[in-house]
Amino acid sequence: MTAALLDGRLLAARIEENLRAEVSTFGEMLGRRPRLAVVLVGDLAASGSYVASKRRAAERVGIDSLLVERHGLVETNELVELVDGLARDEQGPVDGILVQLPLPPRVDTVAVLDAVPPDRDVDGFHPVNAGLLSQGRPRFIPCTAAGVQRMLIDAGIETAGRHAVVIGRSDIVGRPLALLLSGRGAGGDATVTICHSRSADLAEHARRADILVSAVGQPGLVTADMVKPGAAVIDVGINRVASASGGSRLVGDVDFDAVREVAGWITPVPGGVGPLTVAMLLSNTLLAAELRLR
Ligand code: NDP
Repeated sequence: MTAALLDGRLLAARIEENLRAEVSTFGEMLGRRPRLAVVLVGDLAASGSYVASKRRAAERVGIDSLLVERHGLVETNELVELVDGLARDEQGPVDGILVQLPLPPRVDTVAVLDAVPPDRDVDGFHPVNAGLLSQGRPRFIPCTAAGVQRMLIDAGIETAGRHAVVIGRSDIVGRPLALLLSGRGAGGDATVTICHSRSADLAEHARRADILVSAVGQPGLVTADMVKPGAAVIDVGINRVASASGGSRLVGDVDFDAVREVAGWITPVPGGVGPLTVAMLLSNTLLAAELRLR
């Protein structure tokens, strides 16, 4: 069997197309274009490129973005004040506020993220939004988790009654995704197992999965012998490894070539979950603009 490829770029393009029309309608009702503030701290090349791609995507659908950068030594309180100022619209109206992670190690990330008001929290990391999600009444859902669920629904991959195994328990990906898959309704109603670095017999758990998601950040973690024939394998991991040509290339957590021969569906890296994450960010920004009108 060769798995069907789940093309995140194609799906993200379709989502963007729908968003463009909705954004324009809401722009008219707001009297301005929806606006996303992006806070970029430090000099990590990967963070810079993620921010650039999010801003380009925002532009494509008609969402304005404001980039606020801090380089050099930055203290937690300085960033908290910066986010507070954005929330008070000191740099013009902003509907959504995103703090690009990771922040430098000396900064208290939780304190900075908690400063984002829950109704502008387009990343869905604020405890209020995490709480709403865990109670089954989501508002802002963390973008990658929402993107994975959307991908499963779009591909017609049944989740109800199926066994989903999520490897990774971060607040950003693994845990919210496990909540979504075990929640009620479309893309949910699955029986979910969460695995992490302390799980014994990871391969045993993985082999029982109808839907196997890896959100770890370890190349080669998921091998073909860990995959049930016909399973849907969703690779969230992004890892930079040395390439044969002497440069570097991006890979996921899944041994793609071998797993592809066993799985029923598989996501590529790049071009799988990543584009969906950005599309869901745009969707959350539109929702934040809508909340302003309520
Ligand atoms: P974290 O480092 O926060 O979490 C990683 C999780 O993996 C932890 O729960 C950890 O367990 C678990 N883990 C580590 N080693 C193992 C192991 N050997 N076996 C089983 N579980 C293990 O990462 P994130 O959740 O933020 O991101 C995960 C990956 O997804 C990264 O590669 C990241 O780059 C990528 N990513 C991709 C996105 C996309 O758009 N495609 C968006 C966001 C992230 P423990 O809790 O015990 O430490």
